[in-house]
Amino acid sequence: MDVAAERIERLHDLARAAAADDEHDRARYYVRLARRVAERNRLTLPRTFRRFTCDRCDAYLRPGRNARVRLQDGHVVITCDCGAHTRYPYEDQ
Ligand SMILES: [Zn+2]
Repeated sequence: MDVAAERIERLHDLARAAAADDEHDRARYYVRLARRVAERNRLTLPRTFRRFTCDRCDAYLRPGRNARVRLQDGHVVITCDCGAHTRYPYEDQ
């Protein structure tokens, strides 16, 4: 794993920890940083990162807290408090 990928992992952990403390602005800050590192290094963000972050408002999503999870037509649909949806196939978890 290269340095940039490690940095993204670390920022992901920090975002998750901040969200767990209901520090959502801090979580967003880490999410944005991680996105920037990925962009600059032309890396794809890890699947779990993409699933648990909102594309619209950069929130770190915590089902039951700031996000709702539904199963619909074989898809998992995660709805952020801002109203944006993330959808992915159920089998593909
Ligand atoms: Zn959102």
